[in-house]
Amino acid sequence: MTQPAFFTHEVLNQSPPFEDVNLFALDETLRAAVAANGGAAAADELSEFGKHWGSAAMAERGRRANENTPKLRTFDARGNRRDEVEFHPAYHELMAHSTHAGVHNSTWTEAGKPAGNAAEVVRAAKFYMAAQVETGHLCPITMTRASVAALAVQPDLLAKVMPVIATRSYDPGFAPWWTKRGMTLGMGMTEKQGGTDVRSNMTRALRDGDAYRVTGHKWFMSAPMCDAFLVLAQADGGLTCFFMPRFAPDGSVNAIQFQRLKDKLGNRSNASSEVEFAGAYATPIGEEGKGIRTIIQMVQLTRQDCAIASAGLMRSGLAHALHHARHRSVFQKRLADQPLMQAVLSDMALHVEASAALVMRLCRSFDRAGDDAGEAAYMRLLTPAIKYWVCKNAPAFLFEAMECLGGNGYVEEGILARHYRESPVNAIWEGSGNVMCLDVLRALAREPDAAAAVLADLAAATKGLPGTAEAVALIAHAFRRPDVERSARLAVERLALLAAAAALNPVSPHHAELFAATRLAELHAGMYGAVELTAADIKGLLERALP
Ligand SMILES: Cc1cc2nc3c(=O)[nH]c(=O)nc-3n(C[C@H](O)[C@H](O)[C@H](O)COP(=O)(O)OP(=O)(O)OC[C@H]3O[C@@H](n4cnc5c(N)ncnc54)[C@H](O)[C@@H]3O)c2cc1C
Repeated sequence: MTQPAFFTHEVLNQSPPFEDVNLFALDETLRAAVAANGGAAAADELSEFGKHWGSAAMAERGRRANENTPKLRTFDARGNRRDEVEFHPAYHELMAHSTHAGVHNSTWTEAGKPAGNAAEVVRAAKFYMAAQVETGHLCPITMTRASVAALAVQPDLLAKVMPVIATRSYDPGFAPWWTKRGMTLGMGMTEKQGGTDVRSNMTRALRDGDAYRVTGHKWFMSAPMCDAFLVLAQADGGLTCFFMPRFAPDGSVNAIQFQRLKDKLGNRSNASSEVEFAGAYATPIGEEGKGIRTIIQMVQLTRQDCAIASAGLMRSGLAHALHHARHRSVFQKRLADQPLMQAVLSDMALHVEASAALVMRLCRSFDRAGDDAGEAAYMRLLTPAIKYWVCKNAPAFLFEAMECLGGNGYVEEGILARHYRESPVNAIWEGSGNVMCLDVLRALAREPDAAAAVLADLAAATKGLPGTAEAVALIAHAFRRPDVERSARLAVERLALLAAAAALNPVSPHHAELFAATRLAELHAGMYGAVELTAADIKGLLERALP
């Protein structure tokens, strides 16, 4: 479209918008990682998804949903409680598009069993692409799909809700879930006095016939317009997981009272509430006292999605930076041809190569865990390590991507400012950094033989790559130290780097070698672009990152 000219000057040397692109077809790294992990047959479906989500129309929905943030309507004009959150239509459209593509349920059969084949990998590719456009709405999407793993503990309840979860319809109506065409689910664990330490939960659940009445609060409960929440509360038998619907079985609005919405750094299209339960109706999921064991089934899956989303955000940062550098000239030379910019972008491309390969490899372990003990052990040991490494890298990465666009990167019309503000949350929620490291230690302590086998497999898969033998020795030593918590960050980071090299090897052996050489054989410098790569490697990485 031709823009009207200015009277004072011409607009020159600006990059065109990076829109109306196919986020799958354009992403050789993603395509290779999906294929290497069993998802090749879904290439057409993913290309369709990538074309749709890469459109200017979807980018516009993302912008609008974040600029017009949700509003809490606590009361009506007459003082009656409403407890409704209003979202901009663009948010609902994003929800509908993700739901239509099954991002909220495609890893489950209609009966709520794991779908098998490469369902996790294929869905992850969609999640990775959707995260490049709008991440806030993915919060209820991820929680809905993850909730099924916890609901499986209570088969009679799962059998009732699964037909509504299993549809590909998005139904935003405020109505009882059993009357709706589709439903979403959230979770409430964190209280004021403790988020990591959920054992300190004070919310009480008292038996009331076949159900319970829950009284207390949650300090963070996101996506408050979900149709039901999985909530932790103290019952007589200890901390228990409950299914708390927005409407009680008699059709009345349940006593879930929102106090206010958080004013957040990022993730602004998504509402995160502070909430009180004033004797709210709920039914148990699993036995009293087994609440953590139950809800952790859900949390394992949301952690996986945190890593996928962070990898997607970094991919988007890289693509926008590279696109800009190819269109912007400085001192009569395109940025993309300036040696120092090439050094920065190629190092970032290598990071994205490894992150994408790693999250797809993780998803393969989720696909296969049911039939393969080795994959199950990989999943348990590496989910927290990968969440830790991928998510905690994202803010610094996105800052660098933003800087590649100079001042344009910092302003809100572009997507990078939003990505940057979004990026820390994936590291904070669903278990913050230290908690992830402690989780790796817990997996090691619980299943030392299985964990040793995973490490041996990683050693075999990276044999001959620079620095990997030393990394294996360091990890094994660090995890044996009596003061193991002190060295947990070092060991967990190395474990994730090793797993990344192993995941990248079947996808692109040469890049696995470069990754190991620059991240394991030597310590990576504090900034991107401070590694030694040949001119041919730089060219290869950049062409692959954005043809
Ligand atoms: C935008 C947003 C939305 C959220 N939505 C939800 C939601 O929908 N439902 C929900 O239940 N929660 C939600 N949360 C809460 C989130 O999961 C918690 O904030 C998070 O788990 C950390 O808990 P906390 O805030 O109580 O911090 P704390 O538990 O106090 O942790 C503070 C720090 O201490 C570290 N730490 C903890 N234990 C140890 C230890 N033993 N050794 C060393 N370091 C340790 C942690 O890694 C962290 O860095 C949300 C949070 C945010 C920011």
